[in-house]
Amino acid sequence: MNHPRPRLLVSRCLGFDHCRYDGGIRSSLVVEKLRPFCQVQTVCPEADSGLETPRPAADLYADNTNRARMVQSTTQRDLTELVESYCDSMSTDLDIDGAVLKAKSPSCGVDSARIFQPDGSWLPGKGILPRLLSRQWPWLPLADEKALEDHHSRHHFLSNLFVVARLRQLGPTPDPVALEEFHRCHKYWLMARSPHDLKQLGRLVATGDRDVFGTYRSQLRKVVAQPSHRGRIVNALQHMAGYFSPGSHQQEKWQQRVQEFLDGLVAEEELLQMLRHWQREQPREYISMQVLLWPYPSNLISK
Ligand code: SF4
Repeated sequence: MNHPRPRLLVSRCLGFDHCRYDGGIRSSLVVEKLRPFCQVQTVCPEADSGLETPRPAADLYADNTNRARMVQSTTQRDLTELVESYCDSMSTDLDIDGAVLKAKSPSCGVDSARIFQPDGSWLPGKGILPRLLSRQWPWLPLADEKALEDHHSRHHFLSNLFVVARLRQLGPTPDPVALEEFHRCHKYWLMARSPHDLKQLGRLVATGDRDVFGTYRSQLRKVVAQPSHRGRIVNALQHMAGYFSPGSHQQEKWQQRVQEFLDGLVAEEELLQMLRHWQREQPREYISMQVLLWPYPSNLISK
């Protein structure tokens, strides 16, 4: 299967530059693996907004709005407006399919920035950049590098990233035939996320009308933003398994793996590997085109 090259925004301190507050840099295996497969654009909201490196560390402090303030702890300098206005202006020109940002940073942390409360405790929340990005594009695949160390989260993020990139590749007004082909390839991917949306999107495509694309794209993006659900994934994988006639031993092993997946004991990849094996042994044209089976380049698949 041909895969697109997603446009990926990455925090610059994740292996690209010594731009951390202390002049340091961090490595991320996930980012290293992604680099050859993506068009990477880096960002450092603090350095790019004019702050020097090294610089005093900053933290987020809850105020009585939803907008935490970013303050340097040693100098008490309030950086909120500076960093926010940079992120605001930078994001108006962005054309990306997803972002991997630095965990725990007040500027970049995705759900992992520490937001200090008036009583001195802290709660995890969004740093300034991911807060603005998710407000502008609620469907955009966003994760921090620490979250992507978990297999399930990484698989979910990468699947979404490549779906969004394929959707972008269709262009603003795709030919109805191209849209039909896209939908056919994503049939089981959609079934694994939302059988209801699969049906509705199928009806849109069946009209053969070029004007339905805007609605199709908005609805698919909403599906991308949904959390995954093991029962739905199993439902789609069982439909795909129905195309093959494995021996009784293999069938037994399949059912055992399915149960283990439902119990959270094995990753989806274990089931996909079995299906890929059956597909090699008993090639099925319709299955060969299914994104659910090959959601992203095989080099990115790891346990
Ligand atoms: S976490 Fe974000 S703001 Fe901080 S150094 Fe890294 S890229 Fe820059």
